[in-house]
Amino acid sequence: MKSDLYSERMKEVRPSAIRELLKLGADPDVISFGGGYPDPNLFPTDQLSRVYAHVLKEQGKQALQYTISEGLPALREKLVKRMERVGVTCGLDNLFLLQGSQQGLDLVAKMLLNPGDVVITENPTFLGALVAFNAYQPNYASVSMDEDGMIMDELETVLKANPRAKIIYTVPTFQNPTGVTMSLARRKRLVALANQYDVIILEDDPYREIRYEGEPLPSIKSLDTEGRVIHLGSFSKILSPGMRLGWVIAEHELAEKLCLLKMAADTQNSTLNMYAANLFLERYDIDEHITRIQNVYRKKKQIMLDAFNTYLPKSVHYTNPQGGLFTWLTLPETVDTTKLMKEHVLPEANVAYVPGATFYPLHQEINHCRFNYSCMSEEKIVKGIAAFGQILQNYC
Ligand code: PMP
Repeated sequence: MKSDLYSERMKEVRPSAIRELLKLGADPDVISFGGGYPDPNLFPTDQLSRVYAHVLKEQGKQALQYTISEGLPALREKLVKRMERVGVTCGLDNLFLLQGSQQGLDLVAKMLLNPGDVVITENPTFLGALVAFNAYQPNYASVSMDEDGMIMDELETVLKANPRAKIIYTVPTFQNPTGVTMSLARRKRLVALANQYDVIILEDDPYREIRYEGEPLPSIKSLDTEGRVIHLGSFSKILSPGMRLGWVIAEHELAEKLCLLKMAADTQNSTLNMYAANLFLERYDIDEHITRIQNVYRKKKQIMLDAFNTYLPKSVHYTNPQGGLFTWLTLPETVDTTKLMKEHVLPEANVAYVPGATFYPLHQEINHCRFNYSCMSEEKIVKGIAAFGQILQNYC
C-alpha cells in the first residue's frame, strides 16, 4: 500500500479505547451500565409492525422509492408543529430529516470547520460528537460544568482566547455523559455570548423529551435571536434508534447548505422508515408513549441512586438527573476508573460502566465514570451496584 494512501484527516480517526472495553462488557453474563441504549422493552414493536405492514400494503410504491433529500414533507410538517409547541418557530425549509442526530454532528462539522478551527465543548462532552468532529481536524477548547451546565464566565474567557472559535457544541438537557441540564439563565447567556463573539451554537438535544422530573426548559433554539443556533433532534430515545431518524433545524441558508451535504452523503433517509414514523404519529399518541418511557426511567433512576446510596462508599459522588439515561460518578481523585474497571470491576464483579476519561476532548480526568440506568432490569441494577460497591470498598 502507498504510504500516503490515507488522507490527512484520517490521522484523527482512531478506534476509541472505550469500544474495546465495551466489547468486553457485551458478554451476557456481565451487568453492563456501559451502553447508551434505550430500554428495548419500551420499543412499540406491535404498533410499528402494524404500521410497516400498512405502509407496504397501501403505499408500497412510494415508500420503497427514492424521495427528496429533505425527507418526507408530511413527517417534517408534524415535527414543525411539535417543535412549535416548545417555542421553536420554523418552517418546512428550516427542518429536514437526518439519519439520527449523529449525522447532524458530522454534516455541521463538514459544513463549518477548516482544519485548526476551534470547537468549544462542555467538559466532559458526548464522545460521538468528538468522533464526528475529529475527521475535520479542529482544535478543541473546553468549558467546565457545574450542576447548572456550562459555566458561562469560563466560556467567555475561552471565546476571548480563541478567535478561531466557530462552534459551541452543547448537549443542554440531561447531558451525555453527566446527566446535567443547563439552567435557563445560562441558556440565555450562551445565546448572548454566541451573538457577541459571532459563533454558531450546535444544540444537540436528543434527551429533552425524556424528562421524568422537574419543569421543562426552553430549548436554546427557541432563544435564538440571530439564526445562529443549529438544533438537532432525534426519534432515537422516544421511538427507536434503529429507524435512524433525527432532524436538524437551522436558519434557511445554513439548512440549504446542510441539505446539499446530506444529498452527497446518503441522498436521503430511508423512505420506508419515514413513512412508518409518519403513520405512527398519525395513528398513535406518541406523547402517551413518551410518558410510558418516562415512568420506566424515573423508577430505574431512583433504584440506581438508592443502590448508590446503600452500597457505595460516601467518598463517591454522583449526579441526580431529572431525565435522560445517565448519571455521572466522581470517585476520589487518585482512582483511575479505566484501570479499576479493567483490573477489578469487570473481572471480579462482572460489572461494566464507561470510564469517564474518554469524554474529555483535552485534559482527561481519570476519576469519573458514566452509568446508564435504562438498559438493565431493576434486579440487575441493584445486584450490579452492590457488586461494584463491594470492589470500591478497597479503593475509595
Ligand atoms: N447526541 C447525543 C448527546 C447522544 O447521546 C446520541 C446517542 N446516544 C446522539 C447524539 C446520536 O443519536 P442518534 O444518531 O441515534 O439520534
